[in-house]
Amino acid sequence: MHRRTPFPAASLAALTVPLLTACASTGSEGAVGGPTDLVLATLFVNASAEYDAACRTVYAAATSSLEAKMASRGAGARPAAVVLDVDETVLDNSPYEVRLIHEGTGYPTGWDEWCNEAAAELVPGVGDFIARARALGVEVFFVTNRKAHLEAGTAENLRRRGVLEERDVDVVLMRGEVPEWTSDKTTRREHVERTHDIVLLGGDNVGDFLAFEAEEPSNAERAREIAARGDRWGVDWFMLPNPMYGGWDEAAIGYDYGADAAELRRRRVDGLDAMR
Ligand SMILES: [Mg+2]
Repeated sequence: MHRRTPFPAASLAALTVPLLTACASTGSEGAVGGPTDLVLATLFVNASAEYDAACRTVYAAATSSLEAKMASRGAGARPAAVVLDVDETVLDNSPYEVRLIHEGTGYPTGWDEWCNEAAAELVPGVGDFIARARALGVEVFFVTNRKAHLEAGTAENLRRRGVLEERDVDVVLMRGEVPEWTSDKTTRREHVERTHDIVLLGGDNVGDFLAFEAEEPSNAERAREIAARGDRWGVDWFMLPNPMYGGWDEAAIGYDYGADAAELRRRRVDGLDAMR
């Protein structure tokens, strides 16, 4: 996952139960922000046909773009690669989020266990996309911010879902697998580019595509950067929806993971108008 620290979701989950209780008893305590963000966001990913359709839309467009790119590549071109993030790009972790909600806990409680169960299903549409990429002779690399000790479970999950073949090169590139592979994925993209032309990126977080100059960009700065790369989206870069967590939430809370739950909620609500 992209969460850089365990605190945002943990705080959110801690907030969930008391607020729900308060709402049920008073009907007004949840007025600021509603009872919980995680329930609605997880419901959308875990149970909605709309999420399914949105992901299929993205991967259908990515497939068309990849086919066009490969058709126009010269015979002498270097090997082509697609780089995909894993969480909420290839694997759907919403069942893990459901556990957090049911158990009133937060990330990273149970995260390693979930990864090592290797039980996540595929994000809709990604299986066909990867199969098509392979048929076109494109190498598929998985660049994930899951930590290195989770590589075996992650690879097993990908293998079980039919999207990872045994290769003579490591195509599952974990955070911290080598010292320079930090949460900033730039060095891993550079690693792939030593041997391949990256022709397409897929992810659910801006960091899957580019690195901001600022270490802690605001959501307004993030949005400006995205708009400035308008020529890449839907052509080279394909963004999957993820309302459950991400850099947008880290920016909303001011990258201050130590704030208490009520303060985090206030910052999220304050952030609602920040981009207008
Ligand atoms: Mg992800």
